[in-house]
Amino acid sequence: MIDLRSDTLTLPDHEMLASILTAPLGDDGRLDKNGQGEDPSVRALEDLSAHITGKESAMFCCSGTMANQTALLTYCHPHDRVLVNQLQHLFHSEKMAFHERYGQLIPVFYQLDQHFMPDIEDIQENLTSKKISLLCIENTHNFSGGTCINLQRMSELEKISHACNVPIHMDGARLFNAAAALHTSAAELCRHVDSVQFCFSKGLGAPIGSVLCGPRAWIQEARKIRKLLGGNMRQAGVMAAPAMYALKHNISRLEEDHQNTAFCADLLSKGSLIHLKNSPQTNIVMIDIQEFGCTPEQFCHTAEKKGLRILPGAPGCVRLVFYKGVTRHDAAEAARILLQIDQEKSS
Ligand SMILES: *Cc1c(COP(=O)(O)O)cnc(C)c1O
Repeated sequence: MIDLRSDTLTLPDHEMLASILTAPLGDDGRLDKNGQGEDPSVRALEDLSAHITGKESAMFCCSGTMANQTALLTYCHPHDRVLVNQLQHLFHSEKMAFHERYGQLIPVFYQLDQHFMPDIEDIQENLTSKKISLLCIENTHNFSGGTCINLQRMSELEKISHACNVPIHMDGARLFNAAAALHTSAAELCRHVDSVQFCFSKGLGAPIGSVLCGPRAWIQEARKIRKLLGGNMRQAGVMAAPAMYALKHNISRLEEDHQNTAFCADLLSKGSLIHLKNSPQTNIVMIDIQEFGCTPEQFCHTAEKKGLRILPGAPGCVRLVFYKGVTRHDAAEAARILLQIDQEKSS
């Protein structure tokens, strides 16, 4: 069975797991005089994460959801308006900060342009006509199919947002996929935003964890919110050690995932009913299956019976995600299975 449901399926290798055995540990829920926790492995990970993103400070979180929701609640109070894209993960999938019983933030939606990047005019219009407290962006944009916001657009977003004194939070769950695809560094992308979260548990291949990076005083406030949410952890170095291993060893290999993705998409372009929603930029292929006359769920079921596990993606689409452990051969095999379904239906 080839499993392309998500890049969260990566499994830690032996060396990554071995890093846990030698990791120095402490109580990360107790803060020292500098406001950092007492677990040395978590501190080292936070320091390196801050360095890599070019931010002053960082805070380790158990998930990307916790990092994003902590950021939203650190910036905003109930009834504040937040500019988001309707399909971005922190709104569409996470919900808590916008929930009427919990965070009570008010979403104001902005559109993506034809390149799946935040539409500048739409955002400008919203920033000047309403009282907005925060702008949220997602790079890469998961439900658009792993599409990137390029440096020029990042810089434009910074300019218009900061002209209205509105800070920017970036959900960079796949920040390093974006940096690899854009041939730039994570720090160059993050220079244009106030805060960023990225995931260790996606393409970087660690089992658990995310990190929230931003200004020192802001991260100190975020630590209080994380605690409220139950996110204070104790010997969290057992999670931080594999994440550190991932930062040191697995960033440079993301390019390989992107090549496998492009290879598979190229084979799929020979299908007659299968249409690529867009040509893939990173590690995700989004396939429009509306001509099959079935639901994405039914399509996934058919694929699974032939040995390929995938999931519904954007409306009318199914999604293939490539990650560490998925080989070039798997990519070819996945395309073969999908083209077989295509042929059976179209003949
Ligand atoms: C996976 C994901 C998250 C959340 O990460 P979890 O660790 O699963 O909570 C946030 N944003 C995006 C874009 C993601 O893909």
